[in-house]
Amino acid sequence: MQASIAVIGGGITGLVAARRLVGAGHAVTLYESGGRLGGQVRTEQFLGHAVDVGAESLHLAGPNAQLLDELGLTDQLVTAEASFAWIWDGVKRRRLPAGMGPAGPTRMWPIVRSGALSPLGMARAGLEPLLPPTPEQHVGADTDVSVGAFIGRRFGDQVTDRLVDPVLGSLHSGDVHRLSMRAATPMLAAKATRNRSLLLGSARSGHSPPSFVTFPGGLSTLIEGLLAGTDVDVRLATPVDAIEPSGSRYRLIAAGADQRDFDGVVLALPAAPALGLLQPLLGEDAAPLGTLRTASVATVAVAWDASEAASCEALRATGILTPAKAGTLMKAATFLSTKWPHLRHPDHALLRLSAGRVGEHRVASLPDEQLVGQMVDELRRATGLTGVPIQAQVYRWPHALPQLEVGHLEKLAVVRSALAQRPALALAGAAYDGLGISSCIAAGQRGAETMIDQLALNEEAR
Ligand SMILES: Cc1cc2nc3c(=O)[nH]c(=O)nc-3n(C[C@H](O)[C@H](O)[C@H](O)COP(=O)(O)OP(=O)(O)OC[C@H]3O[C@@H](n4cnc5c(N)ncnc54)[C@H](O)[C@@H]3O)c2cc1C
Repeated sequence: MQASIAVIGGGITGLVAARRLVGAGHAVTLYESGGRLGGQVRTEQFLGHAVDVGAESLHLAGPNAQLLDELGLTDQLVTAEASFAWIWDGVKRRRLPAGMGPAGPTRMWPIVRSGALSPLGMARAGLEPLLPPTPEQHVGADTDVSVGAFIGRRFGDQVTDRLVDPVLGSLHSGDVHRLSMRAATPMLAAKATRNRSLLLGSARSGHSPPSFVTFPGGLSTLIEGLLAGTDVDVRLATPVDAIEPSGSRYRLIAAGADQRDFDGVVLALPAAPALGLLQPLLGEDAAPLGTLRTASVATVAVAWDASEAASCEALRATGILTPAKAGTLMKAATFLSTKWPHLRHPDHALLRLSAGRVGEHRVASLPDEQLVGQMVDELRRATGLTGVPIQAQVYRWPHALPQLEVGHLEKLAVVRSALAQRPALALAGAAYDGLGISSCIAAGQRGAETMIDQLALNEEAR
């Protein structure tokens, strides 16, 4: 039977869910409060280039690669230059060692050579293969731990503070001492359960560096591809204000007045609006959604004179990361014209600066001009770049990046078990299932599958 389903939220999660649901033969209406689709995936024209001002690259692996194939987009992919990144602690700039990923060290030798650790720090990190498993590594252990604490236990605090924090903390705009290993870095959690030593485990499984990709027209190409050729009924600028039970169905009240009944609803939106919509249905069981923290961030697209950029040796890298302890406003910079072949130009080099960490208020309080001024100043100090930007444009992302902190999975279990008591209601997205396009693609697909299964069960029960 064809069911009518509402998907609330037109970010990557909602679009993937909507696509899967129409593919299964259901009638889908997608509600998006903003005037465009994509949510945190947004490509803007900047000096004639398609520049991503939200999510900037996609990790090409597993379900992503499959989806891109299905959409016929694989041939258009552009791969990021295989260069290196810097870590800048506010004083000194060092190469991010090759053996260092968001989930901790995979090789020791490049880390030893990088000079990032003191002799004592290196000695402590080198002990990792000899250490017994920590309590959370035991199979079946369901104790959660922060990524920072876990890496600290295995490799010592210097590895957490000097290497994991700039990579993972910057990626999540989060506090590595609060980000949950199981929720924020499920791959690290799985690896930690499989292997007593992370280093020996990495050596056994080999190293294939991740491949990051985009499109010449930016990541909005993926957004446009997801609904192309489908008959999803898209309602832009139509925020859903309330969901009410209506017999065995749901009544959606959108944009203040528009009311329609649906057999099922997928909520693919951030936790704050989800809480507003779910509290009347789930009562106290929706409350954990109100405790999930977020970070407000800003990105700044910058163009620099090409000859000045060419004479700056630091811009040979793809970018720069800063640890929280540096106290800088800039948490990362991507050297777009080095990283992406399609963003090179004879007259100007493109860069993208990012700011904002959880609990920090500077991004929200500084006006655009000061935000740009301070970050550009830090960029000059970090790289030795001379001159001034030809052009700069600020893009703000208030309360955008969800913090999957210790206890996240337990909170979510309360909400999801209450949802399971209601017919055909699903919750999916970065705020619940993990930051990043890859996690959201998987979450959108899972949300749609849950809905399809529930609708089939309801049909059988009739
Ligand atoms: C600056 C920045 C850089 C990033 N860089 C990367 C990167 O390089 N690679 C990567 O993989 N990930 C990156 N991410 C993370 C990634 O973009 C997000 O995790 C992902 O896009 C979130 O998708 P989503 O669909 O879950 O949520 P969102 O994109 O937030 O979509 C939710 C949608 O719901 C809508 N909505 C809210 N309330 C309502 C309502 N009441 N009714 C209807 N609609 C509503 C919103 O307008 C929004 O469009 C970045 C994020 C940011 C902000």
